[in-house]
Amino acid sequence: MRTGPSQEEIRRQNLGALLRHVHLRGATSRAELTTALGLNRSTIGALTADLASAGLVSEAIPKQRGRGAGRPSLVVRPESARVHAWAFSIEVDRLQAARIGLGGVVLDRRELGRPRGLVAAETAPLLAGALKEMRRAVPPGTIGVGAGIAVCGMVRREDGLVRLSPHAGWVNEPIGATLATELGADTPVVVANVADVCAFAEHARGAAAGCDNVIYLYGDVGVGAGIIAGGRQLTGHGGYGGEVGHMVVNRHGSPCECGSRGCWETEIGEYALLKAADRPEAFGREAVLAVFDAADRGDARAQTAVRQVGDWLGFGVGNLVNLFNPEMVIFGGTMRDLYLAAAAQVRSRLNSVALSACLEHVRLRTPQLGNDAALIGAAELAFERLLADPLDAS
Ligand SMILES: [Zn+2]
Repeated sequence: MRTGPSQEEIRRQNLGALLRHVHLRGATSRAELTTALGLNRSTIGALTADLASAGLVSEAIPKQRGRGAGRPSLVVRPESARVHAWAFSIEVDRLQAARIGLGGVVLDRRELGRPRGLVAAETAPLLAGALKEMRRAVPPGTIGVGAGIAVCGMVRREDGLVRLSPHAGWVNEPIGATLATELGADTPVVVANVADVCAFAEHARGAAAGCDNVIYLYGDVGVGAGIIAGGRQLTGHGGYGGEVGHMVVNRHGSPCECGSRGCWETEIGEYALLKAADRPEAFGREAVLAVFDAADRGDARAQTAVRQVGDWLGFGVGNLVNLFNPEMVIFGGTMRDLYLAAAAQVRSRLNSVALSACLEHVRLRTPQLGNDAALIGAAELAFERLLADPLDAS
């Protein structure tokens, strides 16, 4: 017969809950923790002492003393400078590496341009070089909890293998395993799709904090979605769910790099916008932004392109709203700029496609974490192990 959890299991769960609270919310008084976690004061005191002796949190008397009588409640804060995760993001035009402290603090970061089509064998040494540089600046006595990698591609959940990154030509690339050899065998590495990672970050500590049904639409050349349904990340059986860029929306549309035709990303991705704006030779984020800028300055061709592509954006989002009934849709990558430039078209098409019941509470948003979402989210993946069992993982 299965009995309830043991005292030790409960203690470990509570340690994780307390650490997660200060990791996500920042410095919190013992009194607030008592209320937030539903535990009594002596339990909070004992848990905090355990986490402090492991070097994960610190306690201090608050600087601003209240006017009321009585002792002030000690404030518990994450040891952001001491406990860190490594975070990497591999996006179509750039590579980023960062050291991120507990609490989501960016302690150090490096950004590198990425030529289109850079193969995995050339990508890993660039990130490893950035890692080496950052390692030199790490003070002694710090605790590294692992590494997270966000990749624009389809990632197998069980082992982080990048199955396909069509715009870079990657097929079955073990980028996580390659970087793990640089990080050291004892460093756990988690790899995930960049849209999933951004959704995770915005849900944990960004625009979607407190929302349980969220779609984060990430786009550049390709388009993907990180989907959170009922508070949980929806990744599908193998980890490949959310490939919304390959929803076929136009059977007479253009060929897609996935081998199909008329996929959504062939109507809203970078190439679609540049082609519609009569700039077929251009590519890259700067070229995309130049179209929005031209439209803003009254260039008729650019305005038509933005309206046309914005209409397709609303068309697809309307279908996603019908499928998932989200309370929030976040537009990231160049989808952010497209949404801002064509908000009226997006809204108008969305309203005509989506069922009114599915649509009634949808909020359309841009990312609160901006360009940091992929790195913050990659670090969050690495912190998960620590938050699940703080004393075991540290
Ligand atoms: Zn496709």
